[in-house]
Amino acid sequence: MRSQIKLGRLFGIPIGLHYSWFLIALLIVFSLSSQFRASNAGWGDGLILALSLGTAVLFFFSLLLHELAHSLVATSNGLPVREITLFALGGVSQIEKNPASAKVEFWMAFVGPLTSAVIGALCLMAARVIGGGASDPGRAMLFWLGYINLALAGFNLIPGYPLDGGRVLRAIIWWKTGDADRSTRAAAKVGQVIAFLFIAFGIVRFFGGAGIGGLWIAFIGWFLLQATRDSYVQVSLASALKGVRVADVMSRDCPAVDGWLNLQNFVEQELLRSGRRCFIVVEKGEVAGLVTPHEIKRIDRAKWALTTLRDVMRPLEEMRSVSPAGSLFSALELMIRDDLNQLPVVSNGHLEGVLSRAQVLNYLQTHAELQAAK
Ligand SMILES: [Zn+2]
Repeated sequence: MRSQIKLGRLFGIPIGLHYSWFLIALLIVFSLSSQFRASNAGWGDGLILALSLGTAVLFFFSLLLHELAHSLVATSNGLPVREITLFALGGVSQIEKNPASAKVEFWMAFVGPLTSAVIGALCLMAARVIGGGASDPGRAMLFWLGYINLALAGFNLIPGYPLDGGRVLRAIIWWKTGDADRSTRAAAKVGQVIAFLFIAFGIVRFFGGAGIGGLWIAFIGWFLLQATRDSYVQVSLASALKGVRVADVMSRDCPAVDGWLNLQNFVEQELLRSGRRCFIVVEKGEVAGLVTPHEIKRIDRAKWALTTLRDVMRPLEEMRSVSPAGSLFSALELMIRDDLNQLPVVSNGHLEGVLSRAQVLNYLQTHAELQAAK
């Protein structure tokens, strides 16, 4: 989940909004206004709108504090945080590395719901201190924030990976068994069961007359199921690629082509004949960039004869590169994250080879076939 609107930085961590957040913000303002209107007939429209907006903004801050808690535990343990994104179902902290120990994982996960619970308790206490009866606007706002934050803490503690509770469960299994991969698999299985229960319960509620509320529960279940599957796939990938280096899989024999070659000749003489998908573009004996069918496809066929490879190639200095000794899994993560199909493999400023997604897939396929043959 990448944010589309940047809000700035807190403690050096970029904070952003995904467009879907506006949907939930609108929904909250809408449902709060009707709730305030129903409970306090005496309040004017202006007051209700201001109160609903204010409550929604404070809710947004409490979500942010929840995510900041995760992120700060991560950064203080040396795990870089790429971004905190707020979206339709809450927030995500994009932590770039997996924790090195069960203890770090436990605290990193647990501190989020803990923060929400503390915020919830403080709001409820403040509401009590203010007093003033049910018609006091400040009290109504604090009550709502108190309960929503407690509910948030409770929901996040459901032990379905990748919810916070699932991560706590994973950390506990990890600590007990000493096996990080096995603990993720176990936590993901529990997550799947819980996701199915959410979907089933939501559907039953929907047909039982709960309307949109039932669908919403089913939708959360579906989202959880996707997230569980994604993290399961990620862990399976990590274990299949464990110990494999970029150098083991990369191709070292990408054909070199001259930068002044036009696309027409390149396609006819090199691309179609060689059956290869990646070429090193050389200028004056130096490696200048890479070219793949992807770059060729962007150019109108009628212009092929007039366009040279150096016009369309991806210059080496603009590309992210990996080292031959680097782990294949990290390289794959980089390709997925930045949506790249190829990575130049560079060692001491020298191009050693090229790693493509297709090669990683081939490797995984062979690996899976050998596993099945065991
Ligand atoms: Zn959380």
